[in-house]
Amino acid sequence: MAKTYDYDLFVIGAGSGGVRAARLTALGGKKVAVAEEHRVGGTCVIRGCVPKKFMVMASEVSHALEIAEGYGWTVDKATFDWPKFLETKDVEIARLSGIYVANLGKAGVDLIHGRAVLKDAHTVAILGKGEGGEDLIVTAERILVATGGRPWKPADLPGIDHAITSEEAFHLPELPKRILIAGGGYIAVEFAGIFAGLGVETTLIYRGPNILRGFDNDVRSHLAGELEKRGITVILGCQHTAIEKTATGLLNKFENGHEIETDVVMFATGRVPHVTDLGLATAGVELNEKGAIKVDEFSQTTADNIWAVGDVTDRINLTPVAIREAVAFHETVFRDNPQSYDHDNIASAVFSQPPVGVVGLSEHDARQTLGEIDVYVSRFRPMKYAFTGSDERVLMKLVVEAKSQKVVGVHIVGPESPEMIQLAAIAVKAGLTKAQWDATCAVHPTMAEELVMMKDKQTPGAMAVG
Ligand code: NDP
Repeated sequence: MAKTYDYDLFVIGAGSGGVRAARLTALGGKKVAVAEEHRVGGTCVIRGCVPKKFMVMASEVSHALEIAEGYGWTVDKATFDWPKFLETKDVEIARLSGIYVANLGKAGVDLIHGRAVLKDAHTVAILGKGEGGEDLIVTAERILVATGGRPWKPADLPGIDHAITSEEAFHLPELPKRILIAGGGYIAVEFAGIFAGLGVETTLIYRGPNILRGFDNDVRSHLAGELEKRGITVILGCQHTAIEKTATGLLNKFENGHEIETDVVMFATGRVPHVTDLGLATAGVELNEKGAIKVDEFSQTTADNIWAVGDVTDRINLTPVAIREAVAFHETVFRDNPQSYDHDNIASAVFSQPPVGVVGLSEHDARQTLGEIDVYVSRFRPMKYAFTGSDERVLMKLVVEAKSQKVVGVHIVGPESPEMIQLAAIAVKAGLTKAQWDATCAVHPTMAEELVMMKDKQTPGAMAVG
C-alpha cells in the first residue's frame, strides 16, 4: 500500500517562488502547505524590490523638482518627511503582503507561520508551533525549498557590527545627514542613488576598478560618471580596514590610510543563500561549492523528492526568475510536463539614478564567446533636460553578432531604461537581426527611438573601458 502523507507538497518559504509554486499546486487539486518564519511576500515584497522601488521614486522627486524649475515652475521650499514616507510605504507593503496571504487562502494552501526544519526527506518540524508549544511535525510526499537569500557582510572586519545592510536601510529611525555605502553591485548603487536624492551626503566605496562588475564596461564607466553628477562621491579601488564609533558618528578607516566619518555605514557586499539550520543534510540535500542548494535543470535537489527554486539556488537572483523556476517545477512535477526554465537572455534593471537596463551579452563577453561582433553606441542628452542645466547623458549600446547580424546585447543607462529593456528583451530573445530592428519605425520624439536608428559602427577599442 502506498505511504500516505499529510501533504502532497510542503513549501518552505513564502516568497515569490514559494508562493507561486504553492498556489499553482493547490489550485491543481493537491494538498499544500507553506511555512514562513517572517512576513509573507519574501525579499521582493518585504525587504527588496518593492520597498526599494518606492524609495527610488521618493528620491527621484528631488530631481523632478530641479527639472521643474527649468520649465518655469517656482518650487518653494520643498521638504521631505522621512517618517511619514516610511509609514506610507509600510502600509502599502502590509497591503501587498496581505494580498499574498489572501491568495494563498483562496487557493486552499495551509499557511503556517513558523520556522520549518527538515527532519528527514519527508518530515518537517515547524519549531514551537505544536498545540502545547512543542514542534509541529508534518509529513509531505514532496518538498520545495524556497528560502531565498540574506545579506552578507564581512564578519572579520573590526567594527562591522556598526554597519547596517539593506534590510535596516528600509527602517532607519531618521534620515542620516551622511552615509557611506560599501559595495559596487545592484544594491550599493541603488541605495547610493536613493540617499543622495533624499539629500543625504553620500559616498560609495568599492574595492574594484569600477562599479557593477559583470556589466558592460561602457555601462560601468558611464554610470559611475552620472552618479558623480548627481552628487555621489564614488571611491574606487578601496576597502575598509575598520569602522569605529566616535562621539560624532562612525569613522571609516581604509587600506590607503584615508578616513571618512559618516552617520550611517551600509554594507551592500552581496547576499548569500538562506540555508542555515534548515536540516538540509539530514534530508539528503547537498550544497554546491558556493553554498547554494545544488539543483539540476528541473530544480531537483540531490534528494529525489525535494526541489529548490529562487535565490537559495543562486542561479540568477531575480524575482521573475524565481517565479518562472517555480512554474517550471510545478509543470514538471505535478502536470507531467517536464520544463526546464531557460536562463538565457534574462533582462534586468538596476534602479540607480539614472537607472540601467540590460539584456544579453556585454561587448566583452560577446567578443569572448562569439568572436567577431559589431558594436553601436550612442550618447546624447535627453530632451527632458534641454531646459535645465543638467549635463546628464543617456548611453545606448547594441552588441551585434557580425556573422548572423543578430542583436545579442542591449545596454541602456538613462531615464526609463528599465521600461525600455523589457521590450528590447523580446527582440533579443526572439533573435531578431539589426536590420529587423532598423526596419521598425521610430516613435518620435522618444529616447527609445535611438535604438532603431543607430547607424555608425563603433571602432573597436574606441570607447572608455571601466
Ligand atoms: P552583488 O553581488 O550585485 O554585489 C556585491 C558587491 O559587494 C560587489 O560589488 C562585490 O565586489 C562587493 N563585495 C563583496 N564582498 C566584499 C568584501 N568583502 N568587501 C568589499 N566589497 C565586497 O550583490 P548585491 O548585494 O548588490 O545584490 C545581491 C543580488 O540581488 C544581485 O546580484 C541581484 O541578483 C539581486 N538584486 C537585484 C536587483 C534588481 O534587479 N534591480 C536589486 C537588488 C538586488 P566584487 O564585484 O569585487 O565582487
